[in-house]
Amino acid sequence: MTYESVIGLEVHAQMSTDTKIFCGCSTKFGAEPNSQTCEICIGMPGVLPVLNRKALEFAIRTGLAMHCSISPYSRFARKNYFYPDLPKGYQISQFEHPICEGGFVEIMVEGETKRIGITRIHMEEDAGKNIHEGNGSYSFVDLNRAGVPLMEIVSEPDIRSAKEASEYMKKLRTILRYLGVCDGNMEQGSLRCDANISIRPAGQKEYGTRAEVKNINSFRFVEKALEYEIKRQIRVVEEGGKVIQETRLWDSAKGITESMRSKEEAHDYRYFPEPDLVPIAAEQRWIDEIRASLPELPDVKRERFMSEYGLPEYDADLLTTEKPVAEWFEESIKAGGQPKAVANWMMGDLMRLLNEENREFTDCPLKPFHLADMLKLIDEGTISGKIAKTVFEEMYRTGKNAEDIVRDKGLVQISDESAIEKIVDEAIAKHQKEAERFRAGEEKLIGFFVGQAMKAMKGKANPQVLNELLRKKLS
Ligand code: ADP
Ligand code: MG
Ligand code: ZN
Repeated sequence: MTYESVIGLEVHAQMSTDTKIFCGCSTKFGAEPNSQTCEICIGMPGVLPVLNRKALEFAIRTGLAMHCSISPYSRFARKNYFYPDLPKGYQISQFEHPICEGGFVEIMVEGETKRIGITRIHMEEDAGKNIHEGNGSYSFVDLNRAGVPLMEIVSEPDIRSAKEASEYMKKLRTILRYLGVCDGNMEQGSLRCDANISIRPAGQKEYGTRAEVKNINSFRFVEKALEYEIKRQIRVVEEGGKVIQETRLWDSAKGITESMRSKEEAHDYRYFPEPDLVPIAAEQRWIDEIRASLPELPDVKRERFMSEYGLPEYDADLLTTEKPVAEWFEESIKAGGQPKAVANWMMGDLMRLLNEENREFTDCPLKPFHLADMLKLIDEGTISGKIAKTVFEEMYRTGKNAEDIVRDKGLVQISDESAIEKIVDEAIAKHQKEAERFRAGEEKLIGFFVGQAMKAMKGKANPQVLNELLRKKLS
């Protein structure tokens, strides 16, 4: 029997507003515990929350980018439960009337575009954090995070494998970062994912019973946790058992999911409309303004990079995953760089150098014109592609421009035939045997001679001239 897995993700994205969703406290990460709190976010009685307009704008912005409809009427609800990190005894969330509904996000699956439906996007406040450290006889509560604005992005159960789930997460992250509404940092908790998973015999229409896996807090674990859970459910069924509806926790150290509690139902939370906040009716004019301010989104940009610059899909995809990378690329083109050459240098040497220092493109010491200028020197034959590697790294380290480096270090390529001819003659004289073998048909020995001559000329020989001369002399 083969099984198909069915997955739907509930993703919590922390919105990058400066202040909390219902009060003016700062949302800055890493502050002294409880230093960013007030009457409202610690749940004092008699105070009133006021919705942060920026949070609403960010949620609408996200909904529009994900092709959702923006609800003409939306409101908050109280989700009641007790936990020490939730001082009010309820979380202000949205239930019946979320701000966005019915959209989609596209991912690539084996070269094909696949749509993952977005059921809804709603706004809610984050809870605080319980801290269990010290001597173990008591715990601490830090309420800095209480009231930080979140969006919950709920997908349809359209995902069919662990790989698709991780592609979907990556795409969400890319879109959120393009929009500037969330920094997408899973390790710091600004992007959190709860995964609902079920299996069914291949070909069956009805969904199976799902388990919800929580605590997947890094991109690496999205795939791992889901793969584990899918295998576990198949094993349960094959051993004659039944998958039960429950909440499970991903344990990244052990690499397994473990049962935490039986799944709660919506009615357990006694949701009711939040009486302290007025319903939201976002004006169409404002929604249109937000739509007009959306940046070009990654899918559109990728297509454009392919049609406008003739880039292969792989390159276009890589260069549009992060907005600053795409911008760097286009600036270098504007500065005169040839698109495929710019792409190659960015994806090769530049990304390697940045990775070595764990640096982001936003903090790249090399400017787009540096690369464009260097490419010009290659095109004009002033430097060879090989020398360019040295020049490139030097530009990266010092910020000097290509021309100065080439001049100061004497890296100009030698195209002068007589100079190269002399070296070629010497190389052939020194390696008579290899020359014989080449003449007898061992074509690949040309590489050996190129290497010898280049070495003698410290890599500065014009490779084309060198090649031609070698072939002439060896024929
Ligand atoms: P809850 O809020 O109780 O977790 P929802 O009905 O809102 O429940 O569904 C949450 C997620 O579960 C959604 O992403 C949805 O796509 C997914 N889901 C629903 N049914 C299944 C199923 N049978 N298998 C896998 N995922 C499912
Ligand atoms: Mg859920
Ligand atoms: Zn506050």
